[in-house]
Amino acid sequence: MRVGVLAALMLLATVVACGPAGPAAVDEARILGADREPGNWMSHGRTYSEERYSPLDAINTETVGQLGLAWSYEMRVPRGAEATPIVVDGVMYVTSAWSIVYALDAATGEELWVFDPEAPRARGASACCDVGNRGVAVWNGRVYVGTIDGRLIALDARTGAKLWDVVTVDQSRPYTITGAPRVARGLVFIGNGGAEFGVRGYVSAYDARTGDLRWRFYTTPNPHERDQTASDSVRDMALATWNPNAGAWLESGGGGTAWDALVYDDETDTLWIGVGNGSPWNREIRSPSVEGRNNDNLFLSSVVGVDPDTGAYKCHYQETPGETWDYTATQPIILTTLTIGGQARQVLLHAPKNGFFYVIDRTDCGLVSAQSIATQTWARGVDMTTGRPVENADARFAAATAIVLPSPFGAHNWHPMSLSRQTGLVYIPVQEMAQDYTSDPAFVYRPGRWNTGTVHAPLPTDRATRAAVRNSMRGFLLAWDPVNQREAWRVDLGTPWNGGALSTAGGLVFQGMLDGRFRAYNAQNGAQLWEFDNQAATMAGPITYEVDGVQYVASLASYGTLFFLPVGMGVANPPTEPVNARVNVFRLGGAATLPRRDLVRIETPRPPTLRASAQTIARGAAAYTQFCMVCHGTGVISGGVLPDLRRAPSLQDAAVWRETVQGARAANGMPDFSPWLSDAEAESIRAYVASEAAALYADEHAAR
Ligand code: CA
Repeated sequence: MRVGVLAALMLLATVVACGPAGPAAVDEARILGADREPGNWMSHGRTYSEERYSPLDAINTETVGQLGLAWSYEMRVPRGAEATPIVVDGVMYVTSAWSIVYALDAATGEELWVFDPEAPRARGASACCDVGNRGVAVWNGRVYVGTIDGRLIALDARTGAKLWDVVTVDQSRPYTITGAPRVARGLVFIGNGGAEFGVRGYVSAYDARTGDLRWRFYTTPNPHERDQTASDSVRDMALATWNPNAGAWLESGGGGTAWDALVYDDETDTLWIGVGNGSPWNREIRSPSVEGRNNDNLFLSSVVGVDPDTGAYKCHYQETPGETWDYTATQPIILTTLTIGGQARQVLLHAPKNGFFYVIDRTDCGLVSAQSIATQTWARGVDMTTGRPVENADARFAAATAIVLPSPFGAHNWHPMSLSRQTGLVYIPVQEMAQDYTSDPAFVYRPGRWNTGTVHAPLPTDRATRAAVRNSMRGFLLAWDPVNQREAWRVDLGTPWNGGALSTAGGLVFQGMLDGRFRAYNAQNGAQLWEFDNQAATMAGPITYEVDGVQYVASLASYGTLFFLPVGMGVANPPTEPVNARVNVFRLGGAATLPRRDLVRIETPRPPTLRASAQTIARGAAAYTQFCMVCHGTGVISGGVLPDLRRAPSLQDAAVWRETVQGARAANGMPDFSPWLSDAEAESIRAYVASEAAALYADEHAAR
């Protein structure tokens, strides 16, 4: 008996000394105490405040030159790798495209298990921006992943076995999930995407143990009835900012999808939600303005705070009232305390697509400050009295086409920013790209299809103009002082769409680039200290962790994500077969090498001779821009992820082309367009693609 008690006490002591037993034994106390075990990266932004700052410092400004590849793991699929890995007690949990989860030995890269949720590949046609996934959450021995077809799944962290699987969306509508779940208070929080196609956004909270739905908060009001959910309490307030009688929102649901930032704030007891753009984009089509009536369309493009236990509304700040440019506010949110005017303020830091950097009070959503961090032309500034942007009148493209910065790619997108506790600076991947917006005079809401209410000029055919467009795109790593709202330094990266940032106590900032380079900079002044060629675009947020006293840095490399689909344009355009994504992990003295890059170049076949009129080709170009461009690329230049139609075998044969347009390859992700495209229209698109193929063929053969 006494021996039994003693053994039990010893066991208890062991458990207390080592924390909860078993893999991914993470709970709220452990995440709240994340700074006591900096070797782990237990939640999305390392801590609940999501600063993406690590206290580890073995890799530092003095030693970083010795950093080398420790191991590299090849994922099962190509396409965009966007995940922030989670590392707990020597095990890494990470995701690839198609929401596939991998558990790896964090010191060696050895595969422990892989879970494929087997999302139908046709679902890819409902994804605006590729089929990426930004990672898992772990909690009490379980791993949680949201899937591209709208499910939330709990896995056993030891084996990868599925414990429960709940459908979080109406799967008959074009909802997707690409964001990472977050866990706190025993609840798993998950949002969704789909606003380009036509959905109504919301955030759900599920019981982490059972998968039971606990609450739901809709980010746009239900125009027809109460939802019987947490957001009913603000339905009247939100409805007063929409046209209740007209507009495509009555069918689409208005958008406002929360597809990335969900941040749990233990200090103010709030879940912060970054809310997406309107659906359709074009406000006058979505919710036509009525003289004298507010048309801000709450809670589009807002940061909304809700009670994490109940989903009850607390407060909001709308960054882009009456959103009309795809200016989401879903971008990563960092929680911190800043001393402003001698006073400590609990604030959140936010750099949404619209080009401003906001400091917002976490106690009441009051605007503390806002400053432009990139060239933008839609607003002259933010009026600190009203908290509203001072818009440039022409930017709303009401009477005429407007060319506006930022573009729908945003001045900053999902690529995470990082706040260094050492320098007090925020490191932000910033970009400058222009976009032409024209209101679509012939807009018809097509359920399930691309529904923005805007039209955009096809890429000009002459090569010099194309090169000028390409060269006008810029990208920077920006170091920003959030207290004084001013730039500390920047590094010109040439291209846009560069990777997320990580700052460390080693005085370093790590960031990947679109062209595959992965770099370390001095966090104080931006001096480049180290570089490695990851051989594929490095866009996800890097992390750092420690196993057995050795510090590691992890980054993901892949071809894919939004930028590659529509904008390849030679910026990131390998005319090759796609290669699988990789997890590349570095340590001091690491001497591993990446396998030789065997890129298989795709030859351009001689294009078919079509006797199409210039008018038919122009009609085909317009239809291509509306239906095909977002996946197959501006100007039919593939970004190397989905087939380059100029080189597609189906281009050679009108019947095969027609059957493909009518869904013959739905299982591969090419949807059935027959509800929207007649045979004649499909053939006009073929004529346009053939004309582009002829130009490419001539170019390639002239060059030889
Ligand atoms: Ca969007």
